[in-house]
Order: sequence, then structure tokens, then C-alpha cells
Amino acid sequence: MSVTGVEVAVMPPQEPLEDMSNLAAALPGGEESAALAREKGWVAPQRYNYDAYNTLDKDEVVNALPWASNSAKYEWKEEYGDIGPPNEELEKMLFQDEYIPRVGKLLENLRQIEVTAETTERPDPIKSFDEAGLHPITLNNIKLCGYVFPTPVQAYCIPAVMTGHDLIAVAQTGSGKTAAFLIPVLSRLMGKAKKLAAPRPDLSNGFNESLDSVRAEPLVLIVVPTRELATQIFDEARRLCYRSMLRPCVIYGGGPTRDQRTELMKGCDILIATPGRLIDFMDRPNILTLCRVRYTIIDEADELLQADWEAEFTKILAGGDVNEDADHRYMMFSATFNRGCRQVARKFLANDYVRIRIGRVGSSHLNVTQQVVWAEDSMKKKCLYDLLMAMPPSRTIVFVNTKPQADLLDDFLFNMGLPSTSIHSDRTQREREDAIRAFKTAKSPILIATAVSARGLDIKNVMHVVNYDLPSISHGGIDEYIHRIGRTARIGNQGLATSFYNERNSDMGPDLVKILMECNQAIPDFLQSEAPPDGVLKFDDDTDDEAGDGDNTGGAGDAWGAAAAPAAAVDFTANAGDNATATDAQGAWPVDANGDW
Ligand code: AMP
Repeated sequence: MSVTGVEVAVMPPQEPLEDMSNLAAALPGGEESAALAREKGWVAPQRYNYDAYNTLDKDEVVNALPWASNSAKYEWKEEYGDIGPPNEELEKMLFQDEYIPRVGKLLENLRQIEVTAETTERPDPIKSFDEAGLHPITLNNIKLCGYVFPTPVQAYCIPAVMTGHDLIAVAQTGSGKTAAFLIPVLSRLMGKAKKLAAPRPDLSNGFNESLDSVRAEPLVLIVVPTRELATQIFDEARRLCYRSMLRPCVIYGGGPTRDQRTELMKGCDILIATPGRLIDFMDRPNILTLCRVRYTIIDEADELLQADWEAEFTKILAGGDVNEDADHRYMMFSATFNRGCRQVARKFLANDYVRIRIGRVGSSHLNVTQQVVWAEDSMKKKCLYDLLMAMPPSRTIVFVNTKPQADLLDDFLFNMGLPSTSIHSDRTQREREDAIRAFKTAKSPILIATAVSARGLDIKNVMHVVNYDLPSISHGGIDEYIHRIGRTARIGNQGLATSFYNERNSDMGPDLVKILMECNQAIPDFLQSEAPPDGVLKFDDDTDDEAGDGDNTGGAGDAWGAAAAPAAAVDFTANAGDNATATDAQGAWPVDANGDW
């Protein structure tokens, strides 16, 4: 059986796993282990040649494997009217690639996600894309993407942006938040692009850098903390800009500056950027200026602020205000709404901004089967090997806490004949892109990753996430755990998360139990004592409680500015009982009796 990880559904092992530390049998060695792995259906590992690219000249490297930033986009021609003609080849590449994530059948659970709009400005949620007043090309692109109904975050964000509000959405990757901001922003710009956009070269006869170059003057700026997230958003923007004049570009650290600069010089309307590379380009105003920016979107804002980007952040946000146009909208997306985010919100967002909260962190993972197994540190390698061999082969991400551990484990699995690859922040960008590509295409369906590098990864059919090392309370804690397991079971699909636990993880015990209880998962014996004594689940909610703000003397009202008065919470829960808005929810997520759309 040659399994690519695309077709296989993961089932938990027949016996409930609880303790893997008493596995006495030794690991098989050399050829025997390779033969066993093939027998189980795992494809053969391929050695990554870290030196190969040093021996190729630059053009060969680019031709061998294109950089994510060079991916094809719809190129506008002067003679087009308002909408460009279809481009069959590109359409296939953008919308029909077999590796694009697709909606799964378990959307019923996603309906349970609670949505609250917490400001006085509360747009009516849309129930369908058709009623949102979107540009016909946007609607067409949404159809091509295969999005049938808006997700909860989209149901709220789209009308908020369409009615010209600033926005804060507390939402995780996986909730459909990228499209939640791209759809309304692009739609609003489409009709006006000819008037608003900077001049651009006609690329029909190729691009001569010295004759055709223009300065990049984007209308939309999207800032994100990681390179992988940047390229994912770029991919979604390439899809949603199809047949329009709007030209997306992505710039990120580690990628070739020269190539990224060339792309900018061809014209850029939508710029997706990681902060360091963005600042580099902002320092070269002949190449990039933010003077035309109409929409600034900060994704994973809490991550950016946590990672000491605060000074750069202010420069970037202020950079857009060279354009002293009142018509500049700001949007922030964040997993938590912590103090740093609140300060940015206070400074940049209009008073009537809309704040939307999508569920509680973690409550969106009902489609993940979670198992926690006891594994002493000395036995973890063996446990991992046994676990992988016990499962039908499928795409698996193994999280570790350190870079050396990622290297070691990758070597170990490789030597055991298992098809692994790895990613962490000491790898070059070329290596990182190659690892993701190998994982996506299931050439190497096992990815060993440190948390930072795998943050926000949206890869089709990740069936299993293994927390080889659980995060510690001081490094991300339960939020990190939730982010990690969210790499599987995306958008109504199913998945499994296995976490190795021993006494070194006891700081995580209580939070872990609460999540297991919330998601109706089995609690292993060794964690029973961590369950809340009264059986009542209480969560420390996100940190938007103003009490912690040292500089804030005015309480909630102050922090939220004029829009502070709480509005009615809108509940998407199917069993919201007599809540008047429950019908909105059902309408927005029409699921038939089988859980199918
Ligand atoms: P995000 O939260 O932006 O990372 O999106 C998660 C995944 O959901 C991506 O693969 C999107 O392509 C997909 N997605 C976004 N919106 C929808 C929708 N309305 N219906 C189905 N899939 C969607």
C-alpha cells in the first residue's frame, strides 16, 4: 500500500493508550526497521541534501523550486475593462490544486463556536456570501475557492468591514479569519482599483527592470509574525484577487530580497509582510511607500507584540499615516486581546470600531480526538516510533520544544526508515520552504517542528499531531497546546492529537484536564486528580480584563473608548434555547442531518 497521507483517516489505537513507558521490546535496527516501515505503508524517507543549493547557480535554484514569493498571480493588462478574462491554467493552479485544504464533514461541531460582538457597533451577521453586497468577481472567486457559507468570524467581519468600520477580532487561525478580512477589503477595492491604485507596467510583453519598474504603493498592508503565515495569506490573496486588477505581493525574511524587490517593482496593491523585511523595504522609499495604504491589517497581533516588535509595529502603523486620509481602516486579529493589543487599539482604531470574539480559545477543537499518554523522557523516542507504527500512515506533525531536539528526532526517525522532515528557526528559508513542500505533498509525511516555525500552518489532511514535548506554562502553556492541536481537524475535518506526559509536565496538568473535559475527551488516570473538585469548568478568560493595565485608570470604559458599552452577546450555539439570535446561527451554518453542507 503506497499511502500519501491524503486518503487515510486516523483512528485512535484499538486499546486506549495511557502509559507507553513499559514498552520493553527493543527498537528494530537498520534494514529491518526500514522493511517494517514499508510494510506498514510508510513511504521511504528521502534524504535532504542541505548542500545541494550551494552548488547550483541562482537561476537553477529558482527553476528547481520556486520561492513562495514568486508564485504566479493574475497579471492585469491595460486593455482589460473592469474584470479580466479567465486564465484557465492559472485558475487550475490557484483553485484546483490537490493540496488546497477542503472543508470536512464535521461542521456541526464548528456551529458550537460562540461569537460575541462586544461593542455598541454590532453589524448584523450575514447568513450567506450572496447577501453581503460583494463585488461579482469576489463572489465568483469565493465560489472557486469552494466556500459555500461564511464561517462565524466571516459572518461578522464581512459586514463590519463592508460598512467601513475598524475591527478587532479575537479569533484563531483555522476559523477562516484570513478570508474574513480579505473578502470585504478586496471587494471594496475592486470597483475603485483603477482610480486608487498606483500606475503599473503592462507585463504582457515581459518585464524590463530598468524600463518598466514602478514604486510599490500598496492599498492594503497585512503584517504577520511568521513567514509561513505570510505565504499562506499570500496564497489566499492570489485566489481572491483572481481576474482583478489588484496585484498581491509577499515579502518575508530569509527569502531572496532581489526577487521580492523585483515583484514589488512590477506593482503591488496588496502587500503581505513580516515586520523585519517590511521595515527594510520601508527604509527604501524609492521601492516601497505606504502613502496609499487604505487598509492596515495586523494578523496575530498578540504574537507580534510579544515578540518585541513593539517599536517596529508603531513605525509600520504610523508609516501608513503618511496618507493623512481619514479613510484609513485598521483591523487587528489576535488570539487574545492582551494589554499590548489594547494599547495599539486605543491609539490607532476609530472609536466606533467593532470588536468580535470568536469562541473561547480551545472550544473550537471539538473535532480533535485528544489523548494524553504517560511517557518517561527516556522512553519517548521509542513511544513515538511505536505510535507511528501503530497508526495508518498519515500526515503527522511532531512538536518538540528545542531546535536540537527537532534535529535529533528527525535523524532518529530517518534511521528507523520513516519519512520525516523537520523545520525550525535555525534553518534557512530555502530549507523551511522545502520542508513544508515535502510535507504538503506527502513526500515526507512526518514533520518534526518547533512551535514557532509551525505556528499557523494550514496544511491539508494533517491527521495527527504529536506533542512529543508538551509546552510548559512559561512557554505558551495551554494556549500553545491549543494552537498546536489546531494543525489537525481544520474546517470541519477530523484529527487526532497525542501528547506525551510525565512528571516534568505537571505544571500543565490542571489546564490540560480542563481542555479535555471541555472537549468531552477521556481523562487518563494519572490526570484524574487534576480535575476541578466540584466538576465545574472555569477558564481564565483572555486577558482583556482592564484591571491589569497599569496605565489605565479609567476601567473598561476608558480602554474601550467611546464604544465601550457592552452590546448583547450573539450566540451561535445551536442549542442557544430562547436566545433570539440562535436562528441567525442556524441560518449561518446550515448543516443537514448528516452534518453535511
Ligand atoms: P484561516 O483561519 O484563515 O487560517 O483559514 C482556515 C482554512 O479555512 C483555510 O484553508 C481556508 O481556505 C478555509 N476557509 C476559509 N473560509 C472558508 C469558508 N467560508 N468555507 C470553507 N473553508 C473556508
